[in-house]
Amino acid sequence: MGGVATDSPGIFSGPDAPSLDGLRACVHCGICLPACPTYRVLGEEMDSPRGRIYLMRAAAEGRIGFSPVFTRHLDLCLGCRACESACPSGVPFGSLLEATRAQIARHGRPASRRLVERLLFSVLPHPERLGALLGAARVYQWSGLQRAVRASGLLGAVPGLAAMDGLLGDLPRPEPLPAGIPARGRARGRVGLLAGCVQRHLYPDINRKTAELLALAGWEVIVPRAQGCCGALELHAGRLDELRARARGLARAFPEDLDWIVVNSAGCGSAMKEYRHWVDSADVAWLADRTRDVSEILAEAELPLGPLPLRVTYHDACHLAHGQRLRAEPRALLRRIPGLVLVDLPESELCCGSAGVYNLLEPEMADRLLDGKIARIAGTGASVVATGNPGCLLQIAKGCRARGLAVEVVHPVELLARSVAARTEP
Ligand code: SF4
Ligand code: SF4
Repeated sequence: MGGVATDSPGIFSGPDAPSLDGLRACVHCGICLPACPTYRVLGEEMDSPRGRIYLMRAAAEGRIGFSPVFTRHLDLCLGCRACESACPSGVPFGSLLEATRAQIARHGRPASRRLVERLLFSVLPHPERLGALLGAARVYQWSGLQRAVRASGLLGAVPGLAAMDGLLGDLPRPEPLPAGIPARGRARGRVGLLAGCVQRHLYPDINRKTAELLALAGWEVIVPRAQGCCGALELHAGRLDELRARARGLARAFPEDLDWIVVNSAGCGSAMKEYRHWVDSADVAWLADRTRDVSEILAEAELPLGPLPLRVTYHDACHLAHGQRLRAEPRALLRRIPGLVLVDLPESELCCGSAGVYNLLEPEMADRLLDGKIARIAGTGASVVATGNPGCLLQIAKGCRARGLAVEVVHPVELLARSVAARTEP
């Protein structure tokens, strides 16, 4: 659970108040500053991890109140947790931020921001609603209406709409997975696959390939139809009650006798692994303990890999690198592909600007970060960039389209699946 600020005379209250011990663990050394994307862009102390911790602590100790300035500096934070990776004092920045956002949400926000958030969260964590909306968006694209609306300038009239429109590439057709996929070859056990909300609708192909690779590695794959959202987007926004409800729902949807719950979306996996922190219930603890990123499960798999002569670079999704501390596993998987040359992406761990719904709520900062990311990708000379999170896939693909950069943006499992096909297909 979040810390209890019992000795605090400040403005935070309730069991989810940010932990004072966590806030006081910061020794103000500043080592985290160069790792912080917003500090690097703005150069403002209050838009650095140290500055934000100072603000949160001042609020917890009653030296400042909820003000537009306080809220603004915390809204501009990506929640990328690069500062957590850099911090030698173990400051748990991610959970402090999430708990603070819950307090901000409780004390009110400007009406415009509240409206946009309400719209986003009335759709994104609901797979059926999101599916229906994307079905309408497919018609919008195929009918030519998208071109007309873009030309009309109407998109600028509604906050977040232009950013959302820019993110959508060609929308795929729905491709629901079967509820069960039998293991092939030597059986290793049974795993559940998280379909995800964005992933199942925007990247159904990645889910299918993930399931096929797991089956090829000897795992029977269960994909419960009743599974909903994991609550990751709500966690980042400080909507902790919604997160708890989603965690309990997900735990009910998966059978408890599974060896692992496999996740191919970094943000979802990170949130699920942290359920224990937010949900005080044995009902979800087993799910948190058995959650694994697909790169962890496939790392030891025997896969028949054929040649794929490609120059590939890898972008670290924040919630894989900083949230789950998984950097070596995806790279090791890619290096196993014969003929594939993996080239380093400078500052690979610097956020691309996606950050859950950040690119919809804070498009200006998100675009500035994306510009730098795309320039660095272009500098590698790679023809493919791989990354393990649907938000990053959308954001980087948007940046490549905008810049006219002919770089393919893929999930690592797509390259593995292609490599298997190169070996097994005549
Ligand atoms: S979470 Fe990311 S954006 Fe926020 S303070 Fe830490 S490094 Fe900076
Ligand atoms: S968060 Fe950690 S690295 Fe950053 S100033 Fe505080 S102690 Fe130093």
